[in-house]
Parts: sequence; C-alpha cells; structure tokens
Amino acid sequence: MQSKSLSDPIQYLSGVGPKRADSFKAMGINTIENLLFYFPTKYLDRSNILTTAKLLEHVINGYDGEVTVVARVTSTEVIRYRKKQIFKVQFKDDKGFFECVWFKGIKFFKTLFKESDTYAVSGKPSLTRYGNLQFAHPDFDKFSDDESNDFTSTGKIIPFYSIPQDLKSKNVGDIGLRKMIKKAVDEYTDFLVETLPVQLVQSNQLLDIKTAVRNIHFPDSEDDLSQSQNRFKYEELFYIETIVALRKYNYLEKTNGIKFTIHTELIKNFLDTLSFELTDDQLNVLSDIKLDMKNIKPMNRLLQGDVGSGKTIVALISVLIAVSNGHQAVIMAPTEILADQHHQSITKLLKDFNYSVELLIGGTKKSEKNQIKESIQNGKCNILIGTHALIEEDVDFTSLGLVVIDEQHRFGVAHRGKLIKKGIAPDVLIMTATPIPRTLTMTLYGDLDLSLIKELPKNRMPIKTALRGEHSLPDIFKFINDKHESGYQSFIVYPLVEDSEKLDLKAAEVHYSELKETLLKDLNIGLLHGRMNWKEKDETMQRFKNKEFDVLISTTVIEVGIDIPDANIIIINDAERFGLSQLHQLRGRVGRGTVQAYCILITKDELAAKTRNFNYNFDYLSKSQIEFHKSKIRLNAMVNHNSGFDLSEVDLKLRGPGDIFGKMQSGFPKLIFADLTTDQDILINAKNDAFNIIENDSKLAKKENYMIKKKLTEYYSENLQYSLIG
Ligand code: ADP
Ligand code: MG
Repeated sequence: MQSKSLSDPIQYLSGVGPKRADSFKAMGINTIENLLFYFPTKYLDRSNILTTAKLLEHVINGYDGEVTVVARVTSTEVIRYRKKQIFKVQFKDDKGFFECVWFKGIKFFKTLFKESDTYAVSGKPSLTRYGNLQFAHPDFDKFSDDESNDFTSTGKIIPFYSIPQDLKSKNVGDIGLRKMIKKAVDEYTDFLVETLPVQLVQSNQLLDIKTAVRNIHFPDSEDDLSQSQNRFKYEELFYIETIVALRKYNYLEKTNGIKFTIHTELIKNFLDTLSFELTDDQLNVLSDIKLDMKNIKPMNRLLQGDVGSGKTIVALISVLIAVSNGHQAVIMAPTEILADQHHQSITKLLKDFNYSVELLIGGTKKSEKNQIKESIQNGKCNILIGTHALIEEDVDFTSLGLVVIDEQHRFGVAHRGKLIKKGIAPDVLIMTATPIPRTLTMTLYGDLDLSLIKELPKNRMPIKTALRGEHSLPDIFKFINDKHESGYQSFIVYPLVEDSEKLDLKAAEVHYSELKETLLKDLNIGLLHGRMNWKEKDETMQRFKNKEFDVLISTTVIEVGIDIPDANIIIINDAERFGLSQLHQLRGRVGRGTVQAYCILITKDELAAKTRNFNYNFDYLSKSQIEFHKSKIRLNAMVNHNSGFDLSEVDLKLRGPGDIFGKMQSGFPKLIFADLTTDQDILINAKNDAFNIIENDSKLAKKENYMIKKKLTEYYSENLQYSLIG
C-alpha cells in the first residue's frame, strides 16, 4: 500500500469520495492538508451553556442576550394556528423542558429533527403565555451520541465548522464533517512540518504545529484551545510583519538616493521670517528629517501629528532642503482646495526666496497645464503642488528629489508608489493627521520611520466641545452673533444627505437662505458645498479668510486641512451622522489662533439628553451593546477628548480593527486569527522577531530562513510585490 501523505487528495479520506470531493474543492480544500487547516468557526464548551433550569432563571430575570442549551429531542409536531402552520420541537434535559418553533421552512426543518437526537440550541429565549420556554427560529447544532456523552460527562469542547450549502446537500452535516476532520487529524497531523522557525516557537513558548492543529480542532480544555489560537495568531502576525520588514529593508538596501547638503543659513533665514517659534516636537522632527536627507539612503518617513499641530511648516523646510540642492519637490494633497491652500501659503512664505512654485490640479486650464508641465520638465519649476491629478497627468520632472504626501490616509499605497516612481529614489515624507492606534501603525506603516508631533503650538487653548439638542439652536445663533463682536468667525456644518450631492446642496442652501433672513441676519454669510468647482470653493474660502464673511455655511468639504485662524466656532449639525475621525477633523478647523475656540455638536434633543446621561466603560460593554450605543459613545468621546490619539483608541473599539484595517490595508493580507485590538502583545513580539530576522537576512537567503521564504512565496505571493524576494 502506498504510504500516506498530506498531499493526498481529499477524496481518499474515508467518507468523502468523488462527489463530496467536488464540494470540498469548491471550498478550496483539495488535499488532506487543506482540510487540516480548515479551522472551526466556533466552539461549544460547557462553560457557556445553560441548563433548562438556568434558562428559566435567565428569562425570568429579564436578561435578553443569546444563550445556548444542550438537550434531546422528545417530540416534533406541526400545528395549525390561525390558518398558518407552525413546526414545534420539544426538547428535554435532566432539569426540564423547552420548545423551539419555526413559522417558515417547515418542510425542511421537519426532516432534520429526530426523536432522541441531541442538539445545542442557540438563540434568544422567551416565555410563552402558557409559561413555556421557547426559542423561535434558533440556531442549532447537532451532536453525535458519543459527543453528547463526552460533552455532558467529561466537558469536551465541541468544534463547529462552517458548511456551505453545496456540501450540506451531499449529506455532510456538523457531525459528518467533524468525523472526517477527526479522522484526518488522527491519521495525518504527524506528517505536518513546522511552519515557523523552531527558535521562535521556543522563545515565544508556542505550541508546535502538530499539537496546535490537533488542539484547534479538538481541544481538551479552554487553555489548550487558547494556546493553539495564540500560536496561529502569532504565526499570522509574524508573516505580515515579515512582509513589512521586507518592504522596509529591501527598499532601503536596494536604492541609493540623493545625499542632500543641509544649508543651515538658508533654513535659519527662513525660520526668521516666521511669526512664531517652532515647538520642540517640530524641531525634533526636523532633525530626524535632516539626518534622513543627508543620508544616501532615501528618506522614507511618516510624520504623524494631530490636526493643527503644524506639519506643513516642517514639510516646507524639507522642501527647502531639496530645492536648495537643485532638485525639485512635489507635494500631493487629497483635495483641490487643500492643494490650492498649500500653493498660496507656500508661495507667500517663500516670497523672499527665489523659487518657483506651481499648482497642478484637475481644474487647471489646459493651456496653463501645458505650460506648467513644460516648466517641470525643463527644471524651471522648483516646487510642484497638486492633487492626485499629478499622477494621472504625464508629468515629468528633471530631477525629483522629494515627495511629500499630505493626509496620506486619503491615498492608497499605489498612489504613493506611482508618485515616487516619477523620480529616481527620491526622499519621501508622508504626513497624516488621522492618528491611528499604535498596533495599526506598526502594521500599516511599519516599513516607514516614524516621527510624531504630540504637542500643539504653545499659544493654543484646548477647544471647548459641547453637545446640545436642537432646541438650543436659537441660543447658539445668539452666541455666534455675540462672539462676532469680538472678532470670531464661525463655521456651520451640515452633513451629506444620503450621499447625494444634489440633496446635500439643497440642505445647506435651505439653511443658508433661512438663516440669512432670520437668526443671522446681521452677519455676512457665505455658502460652500461640494457641487462648486474648486475655483468657486477657493474664492469663497478666500473671502471667508479675508473676513468678507462672518459665517461660512458648509457641507463637509471643509473637512481636511483648511486653515482659517480667526474661525473659532464650529457648529456641527446632526453630529451623530459623522464618524469619529471626521468629527475630529472638522473640529480641527478651529482653535488655530490664540483665543478660546468652541465646537458645538448638535443632535435631536432626545439623543443629546440620552448621550449626556450615558455612562459607559468599554470593559463592560458587549459587542452588540457597543454597536447599539455607538453614536452616544462617539459624541461623548468628542466632548471628553481633545487628542486625536485618544479618539483613535475609542474608534478602534467602536469600529473594530477589521473595519479600519480593511479600509487601509491594500497590500496586506486579511487577518484571520489575530485581532489588533486585543492582540497587541503578540503583535509586538511578532514584529520584533520578524524585523530581527530581516535586518540580518533581508533576502531570506540564509539556510535557516529557507522555510520562511517558502511559506511567504506559497501563501503570500501577491503581497510581496514591494519586497524583492521570490
Ligand atoms: P496641520 O498639522 O494640521 O497640517 P498646519 O501645518 O496647517 O497644521 O498648521 C496649523 C496652523 O498653525 C498654521 O496656521 C500654522 O502657521 C500654525 N503653526 C505652525 N507651527 C506653529 C508654531 N510652532 N507656533 C504657532 N503656530 C504655528
Ligand atoms: Mg495639514
């Protein structure tokens, strides 16, 4: 007989056969090895299971969460009630009874439940008016006789796998699949080969692959299970961080960039023209940047700083370093209006210096565009500012030395890459005001060096944030009028209505004309919305900046980056509709001068009152409670936290890492085991280990790292495009 191997086709496993093998193939399971790595999606263990007696207590005490009960079917019947059919199954354990009912799919459910079968039933129980415990349309999982004995007597943990319809239709249910996997585990796990370097398994005290696979399917205890899970979490994070490390070290090692000379005198002269001194954080970042730029290796730096922390000025100095060395610099911003603002303020700041600054955005006239492109090509233009139009257009530089990307979170990795390719190993400075939690930074931006601006300029007072119900609006408008006397300008923001620009415009317009006639009739009001072209937007912003308007009514187009020093009140209507980072960005539009700034969040009266009375502690909230209360949590967080970093931690708990990671992850594999909210410690270990290995062997050429290379190329090939192994 031929000997067994992990690559044996799945159909050789007893109970599978060719027909079922087809269904397995559709699930991506071709071999026994694939089946061994088809992990349970949930487990039943005795600790989270109620007896019927406890179930009754649960219902009587008014808890309304999901519960699970294990019991045996005693009878089934179809009853008629008001011309409708109901399918009812009676269950029993040694403490009592309950029933399950189905109003739909009766034909199907009738075939499932047989007398004396054992099931785990999960759902929300209720008490019928006859006093019966009842589940309507619950989830249910079938146990085999052995299992139910095991389960009730020894407390074994039972695994459950997701089973696609196709496989179910070939009569493979929970029990059947468990039996197949049990067989595969018993007969084949011994052939598994370790997929992590042995020294890491040891130093991190991880389960070896054989034990881990065995225990992830059929653990004897909770502890065994969580040890297995930890091993797979570690493994997943280790390989992701290896990809990150490869990106970092191979980019740096492969390329020689430009060795810039720092013209200290020039920088000093520039700093002298400013009306303020740089903060310590800004100075620290600056010295990071100088070191990077002096070095032959290209700079690859992320500058994280809260809104209003003064990143632009730091970027501008690095631009000065580049152009004073005879190279060109480019700044890419996410919106036309922001690009335009950068263009104007940088032109002004550099007016005593002899550099040409150009703006290239989608809205630039064709003839003008051609002129600008030519000046970039022949080197006359030193500093180019624009939106992602920069990438799309055929823009060629004579010598691109520095790439600055503002508000990076608005761009993908691909945008970044395309712009960088317009030079030969230019220095790169990436800026973001969206503080993301440390675990995410370590992963998403782990290939970049990190600089932080934590403190705001000294003259700033913390913004006062308040939550008010709509009934306070008259008072708030009075506040705007009063504050106007002392030089305050105000933003009034309305949310997008159903994502429709048309409706959005209408909402803002209606409020605009109404307020102009009534509560704000003594003030000059401007209107800004997404349907204006950039020139119109820009003109409106300029007029606001020049104080032709006292109040700017706006949709969310002011969200990113715009800087108006005297605008110190922002009213955000229907604040519950905004995400947390969006609210923080909006609030960051004020508080840039030296006076007290205010952010007033408006919601319906009822929500405002409920939110103010809502005390919470994340540790005690379940996922569904968090989901249910999320707008209250967001609003409270805004009132209580001024720091974007604190808010980002709240946001992570609200949205879950999957959501945040998902939006930013292009270029990263999906996380299956690890959860970046809870698995920080594992992540940090995995990252240190991965970086250590790649630092010493960036091509994974050493013999002891062969296995890492093999696994990467087998499982993560599409994520390796920037990493130069393979
Ligand atoms: P962000 O980091 O959000 O991009 P900006 O660079 O737009 O912030 O800076 C916000 C405002 O703070 C600008 O008006 C800028 O001129 C000003 N600013 C920057 N640095 C300082 C400083 N050290 N002291 C006082 N004001 C500063
Ligand atoms: Mg900015």
